Amino acid sequence: MIDKKLKNRHNELELKIQEATEDLYATTLNLKQANEELTALNTAKTEFFSDISHELRTPLTSIKGAADILIRKSSCSDPVYLDIIKNNTDHLIRIILDFLDYSRIEADKLELDYTHESLTDIIREVIDARKAEAMERQLIIEFNPSRDFEVRVDRYRIYQVISNLMANAIKFSHDKGRISVSIESSGNEFMVYVADEGIGIEPEYHQVIFKKFQQAPRANGKQDFQKGSSGIGLAICRGIVKAHGGIIRVESRKDKGSTFVFTLPRP
Ligand code: ADP
Repeated sequence: MIDKKLKNRHNELELKIQEATEDLYATTLNLKQANEELTALNTAKTEFFSDISHELRTPLTSIKGAADILIRKSSCSDPVYLDIIKNNTDHLIRIILDFLDYSRIEADKLELDYTHESLTDIIREVIDARKAEAMERQLIIEFNPSRDFEVRVDRYRIYQVISNLMANAIKFSHDKGRISVSIESSGNEFMVYVADEGIGIEPEYHQVIFKKFQQAPRANGKQDFQKGSSGIGLAICRGIVKAHGGIIRVESRKDKGSTFVFTLPRP
């Protein structure tokens, strides 16, 4: 009698296990399908993003070209309007180029053109290009490398990373502040530091800001989107550094300043 009861119980349990396994299998299939659909949607979105950016770039470049010629030749009594056209087209082109870069990174299609380069030369070039901007804010930029550091990188892309970090350091510094750039080597990698004494970032935003369209709030609780910042620069930096086999992160304290550091493998 007990035997029979046990056997029935056993059969019941086996049936339940079988049903649960089938359910699990069906759920897994559904999840797989949903995942495939999401991946396809994401690819379509990235392509759309990239197509739109391409479409916008061509007419904007023509407008910019025409505005440049007008500024050079103009006898216009109020050239301010031409400057407005030029500055805004420059800004739009920069945003579109950023979108294109980000689309490439997201689609894993960032192509790198590796050459042997001097990291110190690249940094000096970025500092030179940003000098006027820094002087306007009376900022001091320090860069005193102890030696040359040779790397194998895509020069254009690494310039872009350092330039972006410098632009942020300038943007988020207080007037008359100090920005210091330095290189260190450790084991198989070089580390590039861009440090400022600016507004700093709350810990909960240290990871978030490397995602696309994410910004940390300013002290007044506002973000910079309305000022034309897109919040995509650090996402591009992360993509470029990752494609080179490195990592990027930030150490920062609110109101004390931020240090962005990225690594590059030694050649
Ligand atoms: P954007 O500067 O266009 O907003 P980024 O991706 O370069 O986009 O930066 C994202 C956000 O990270 C900024 O909006 C800002 O909140 C924060 N951030 C970046 N660099 C610094 C810095 N040096 N000091 C303080 N905050 C920074």
